Amino acid sequence: MTIGAILRGKGTGVVAVGPEERLDAVARKLSAHRIGAVLVRDEGGAVLGILSERDVVRALADRGEAALALPAAEVMTRDVVTVGLATSVQQAMEIMTDRRFRHLPVMDEGKLVGLVSIGDCVKARIAEAEQEAEALRSFVVAG
Ligand code: AMP
Repeated sequence: MTIGAILRGKGTGVVAVGPEERLDAVARKLSAHRIGAVLVRDEGGAVLGILSERDVVRALADRGEAALALPAAEVMTRDVVTVGLATSVQQAMEIMTDRRFRHLPVMDEGKLVGLVSIGDCVKARIAEAEQEAEALRSFVVAG
């Protein structure tokens, strides 16, 4: 199964903020959308970074409540690791496990086309495993 197949199921919407967005507004956005990370994009849509709930916690631990006024650009991770539509779910899970993060933006021909989380990948793998088990059961019963 590929990342493209996951996006066909969940859609291509990605929640994003601008680089000047304050951290308290980012936290409200994460909470309102029930997500763990937002992308930081410039006005032209280029991906500048990724900002996850872990970055919010780190900034609060380091700077106290003053962190809430920091702009997203100061707290985000700049070197964003991405995958393509043809990347396998297995590969994506390996990347997230090895690099110790839980979100992967998906690019196609240089354009952002979605974002998958480790939760999306685990869900897809479980569905696939259940389908395989069901196919085997049918095969055994039919035989
Ligand atoms: P997460 O596990 O996704 O909450 O993220 C943990 C840390 O990794 C945070 O500092 C994020 O900014 C960073 N991070 C998350 N996803 C990515 C990614 N795809 N590429 C680079 N850094 C990331």
